[in-house]
Amino acid sequence: MTANTASAIAAQFPEFDKALQHYFPGALPLSKYMGRTAKALAKYGFEDENTMGMIAICRDEQTDPLYEAMVRYWGKTFNCCSLAGFVTMGKTGLASATAHTPIEDGLRRFVFCAMPHIAISRNGEVGLMYRDGVEAPSHACGALETIVEELAAGHLNLETDMQDIEQTIVRQKILSQLRYGDRVNLVDLTQLASKIIATDVRNLLSRLDTTIFHYAVMHGIQIHGPFESQWVYPVDFFIVGEQFGEQPYRLDTFAGGDRDAAASLSKPDEIAG
Ligand SMILES: [Zn+2]
Repeated sequence: MTANTASAIAAQFPEFDKALQHYFPGALPLSKYMGRTAKALAKYGFEDENTMGMIAICRDEQTDPLYEAMVRYWGKTFNCCSLAGFVTMGKTGLASATAHTPIEDGLRRFVFCAMPHIAISRNGEVGLMYRDGVEAPSHACGALETIVEELAAGHLNLETDMQDIEQTIVRQKILSQLRYGDRVNLVDLTQLASKIIATDVRNLLSRLDTTIFHYAVMHGIQIHGPFESQWVYPVDFFIVGEQFGEQPYRLDTFAGGDRDAAASLSKPDEIAG
């Protein structure tokens, strides 16, 4: 789906657009987000041919458009997916992923995309999406919503359940960031998940030798809108490598939150069913 089509959908469903801009101001259509990040990274030597993709998003098939976009822009992409987009691959997973990265002039490059997801319905309902021919709405992210419900009910199983290990990790990591009695909604929890994922990615990648590895990190929140439109709320975007300095080098690709929605509207009747 093009950025124009996504923008037209936002124009056609004002309640959706209102909720999107209220909770995630500056969110962009997925195609625009991917185009801008790739363009920015090209200036620093990251090209499809010399860079591998890595992706940590929720297992939910609703996130597929982001996975497919990563493959389209970055080619072969290492699957680091787990419930809610939490990073559970560990040292072994990272060793395996980095061993697959291409080598060019002694440098190995990859782009790591890690983010949770959330749905916003055509009526502006957060967490819900309606699918063709299905009366009952679908939920996203189900793993996070389960925790919102558990918190509201005051029933939380804190044991490590080896039969439900990914959800156990999501629950334990979230609870370790909340204070007793905190009341959180799905938007709060998704924002918190994004922070936890970012911290875990930083810790995981900090063991890499930056004289050899140059990598980019894309953090945000994937948003599913009406008519399967896909959006990304950018949270952080930076590159790491010896040539870029000692600290992560932030790229201001999204400064100003310009969505160009008004400039790129197509007529609503051009929207594919
Ligand atoms: Zn999910």
